[in-house]
Amino acid sequence: MANERILIIHTDQQVTKLLERNILRSAGYIVSSTADLVDAENILSVSEPDLIILGQEIGDGNYIEAVNRLRGVNPGIQIILFANRKTETMPTRLMRLGLTDILYPPLESGDVLKSVRNSLNQVKRWQEWVEQESKRITGPLEERVGELESLAEIGQSVTAQLDLDRVLTTIVDSAVEFTGAEEGSLLLIDEKTGELYMRAAKNFQDEFVRTFRLPVEDTLAGEVISSGNPAIINEETPQKIKTAYLVHTLIYVPLRIQGEVIGVLGVDNRHSGPAFSDRQITILSAMADYAAVAIANARLYSHTEIERGKLETILTQIADGVIVVDHENKVVLINQVASEAFNISGNAYIGKPVSEVIKSPDMIALFTNQDSIYPRRIEITLDDDRTFNAQLTTIPDVGVAVTMQDVTHFKELDRIKSDFVNTVSHDLRSPLTAILGYVELIERSGDISPQQQEFVNRVQMSVHNITNLINDLLDLGRIDAGFDAQKEVIPMSVIIRYAAENRRQEIQKKKIDLSLSIPEELPSVLCNPTRMQQMMDNLIGNAVKYTPEGGSITIKAQHEKDQVIVQVSDNGPGIPPSEQPYIFDKFFRASSITDETPGTGLGLAIVKSIVENHQGRVWCDSTLGEGSTFTVVLPVNDS
Ligand code: ADP
Repeated sequence: MANERILIIHTDQQVTKLLERNILRSAGYIVSSTADLVDAENILSVSEPDLIILGQEIGDGNYIEAVNRLRGVNPGIQIILFANRKTETMPTRLMRLGLTDILYPPLESGDVLKSVRNSLNQVKRWQEWVEQESKRITGPLEERVGELESLAEIGQSVTAQLDLDRVLTTIVDSAVEFTGAEEGSLLLIDEKTGELYMRAAKNFQDEFVRTFRLPVEDTLAGEVISSGNPAIINEETPQKIKTAYLVHTLIYVPLRIQGEVIGVLGVDNRHSGPAFSDRQITILSAMADYAAVAIANARLYSHTEIERGKLETILTQIADGVIVVDHENKVVLINQVASEAFNISGNAYIGKPVSEVIKSPDMIALFTNQDSIYPRRIEITLDDDRTFNAQLTTIPDVGVAVTMQDVTHFKELDRIKSDFVNTVSHDLRSPLTAILGYVELIERSGDISPQQQEFVNRVQMSVHNITNLINDLLDLGRIDAGFDAQKEVIPMSVIIRYAAENRRQEIQKKKIDLSLSIPEELPSVLCNPTRMQQMMDNLIGNAVKYTPEGGSITIKAQHEKDQVIVQVSDNGPGIPPSEQPYIFDKFFRASSITDETPGTGLGLAIVKSIVENHQGRVWCDSTLGEGSTFTVVLPVNDS
């Protein structure tokens, strides 16, 4: 055979030439040569000659060291030594060094080729042996890799699938395939009866699987369940040892969830088949672990589903309206009350932008203006005249939710109360005017003592206060009833500046630092000038009244889209958060102010009425001990 590669390492050029050209090449071998040992090492490290013919003179005659160095580069290389002459010790050395042959001069072509052929045959046998050995050694490894791959596949199907039936069937199929068994089954304990039933099976008849019932007591599967250890049967003759059917060989391994055995995974041979091994038990146990994980996952999932269902029922059945949107304002949930309120039917709204689903502009503004100055609580009046109090709440990782309480009933009560108060206020005005008149007559009707004068003053002051209160109440009644329909287009900056100017004296007296930020180009609003004036006066008046001496007040106005936004801020006492929702209610006075501070608790109710009568909104942001900001938003006049 030719084409094998031979490397000649010899110091004598003549010899090399003879070997290379005359003998080896003509016999078909691929030959390379060198006279230098280092060069030979390099050749050996990059190419793989099948054989070396080494001259004895190489390495200054120390051919033993030369052989060792060459073996250092390639431990399996076969070497023929070309000795200078025959000595008695040479064959012994040959053996010790593990050389394949020795050639002596004179070089005979036949001898050389014979020696080369023998050596190459040895190389071939050696290679075949190495191949066989490596197969023998790696064979079980490949088997293990196969086992691991099938386990990995099962693992993947457990994590990728929610369909428990499919996962368990895959596991039983794999168990049967891996063990080469005739049948496989997965038995679980029925929690109601305590018996074992077949949850998944391979090669069992359907009818058998359906009707299979095995008690836990006194059965092999039961033993596995109570001991938590695998069971194995390897019998020559068919057995029915505590199984429901005759088997030759069988393995049962336990299925555990959090330490508790809930069933067994089994494979068996009813007719024949080789004995099962411990290794198979180990792999089957790993498969059983996967099955247990799949069952635990499925149980958790169904538990979570039940809980989710409960929550959904609560949310949909609750008496308040609930709307939930995600971070992109796409609808996640609208419950029944909210659906009815906004005339939404079906479920098609899920995932759609809230502005496409709900038509109420106030509601859309509540969702879309989440991060701006707008309040997180508004009152919404629907087409059917129902009024809802809508409150926005941020839900981390979900989005935002708006809950809506129907406050129509309270609104109606409020209206009845207002009507009553209006009537009473009206009726009180005449007697009060009479009292004031008569008190004045006392003063004029003759001398009175200083003490009597003091009493008269007090009566006058009290009647004055009550008259103010009644005027406020009557004002409120008039505004609520919409008696101030007469409206004009007025620049908002004029109104604000005028109201601030009116309070100039008080501001100076209390050494309050007032800063105004009102752009000249602030647009006009269509309003009743007296009422708008009253509204601004009440807000600035409150800021002045409640801000302590030396404090500061800022009045800021800006134009945003088609709205004018006015803000009155102070660094006064602030309002407790729990009381903030009520400060626009009639007669409400917060606990953060002293009882001596004069006031009726009607100012902000009037403000709210006026603003709402002008299709605007007003709200308050306040931090106790730090100050308050009242914001009014009014539509710009577009006529
Ligand atoms: P009052 O006549 O009491 O001022 P309002 O209706 O104007 O009535 O205000 C209601 C309540 O709101 C006040 O009693 C006070 O507790 C609180 N309030 C209003 N404005 C401010 C403010 N700028 N700083 C602190 N609290 C305020």
